[in-house]
Formats: sequence, structure tokens, C-alpha cells
Amino acid sequence: MTQCHKCQKWGHTTKSCNLKTSCMKCAGEHFTEQCQIKEMNSDKIKCVNCGGNHVASSTECDVYISRKNYIDKKQQEREEKRKTTKFILALPPRKNYWENKKEEEKKKTEEKRKNDEGREAREKQQQVTKNNNTQEEKQTEAE
Ligand SMILES: [Zn+2]
Ligand SMILES: [Zn+2]
Ligand SMILES: [Zn+2]
Repeated sequence: MTQCHKCQKWGHTTKSCNLKTSCMKCAGEHFTEQCQIKEMNSDKIKCVNCGGNHVASSTECDVYISRKNYIDKKQQEREEKRKTTKFILALPPRKNYWENKKEEEKKKTEEKRKNDEGREAREKQQQVTKNNNTQEEKQTEAE
């Protein structure tokens, strides 16, 4: 989790900070490096975020914990949503795929039937022409 080293708040970087400078150790209006407090377990240690007896970067801070929980929850929700969305999105293409497949097969059968009919018709036509020719030949023979 991002913590600003200027104001000690969570969720933004020092570069983008437009809040007043706060000390990580005593919550005073000065940079942490300029702080008079040297020991880390002094009574004067004060968290700028919650006012507790710990440094502002402490992971035991209530503000940190609630913020982290909030972010974790959001992350989890996003994850859940992503899973659900993926699942919903995955269904329609599969259905379309089969419908397309079915449609394609129907088309193929239709075409095949038409082709068969066409061939039969052509064969019949050829047969007729042949018969005509034969008749003509016979006629020619008869003359
Ligand atoms: Zn800041
Ligand atoms: Zn200080
Ligand atoms: Zn705190």
C-alpha cells in the first residue's frame, strides 16, 4: 500500500501530495528527518493518522488496518466480478458456436440436396436428349 512520506497518509505518493508536511514519528509539522525524537519506542511517538502511540507507517495502526481491509475487500469484489463476468461472457459464444454449426450443417445438407436434384435433373435431361437422338437416329434409319 502506498504511503506518502510527506504527510504520512495512505493511498497517495509524495510527488502527488498537496497536504501539509507531517512527521512520521510525532505527527508534528516537520519532515521525519528533522524530528527531535530519536528512539522509536518513545512516549512522544504519535501517529498522525490515528493519534496512537506508534509511527505513522506502522502496520498496527487502525487507520492502516481498516484501509487495508477496505482495499482487500475491493480487490476481492473485483476478482469475484471478473470471474462472474468471464463466466457470463463465455456462455454466449459457445451457444452461438453450436447454433452456427447447426446452421452450417443445415445449409450443407440443403446444398447437397439441391446438387443431387440438379444432377438428377441433368441426368434426366441427358437421358431425354439421348432418347431423342435415338429416336431421330431411328427416324433417319427409317427414311
Ligand atoms: Zn501526502
Ligand atoms: Zn517529529
Ligand atoms: Zn496510527
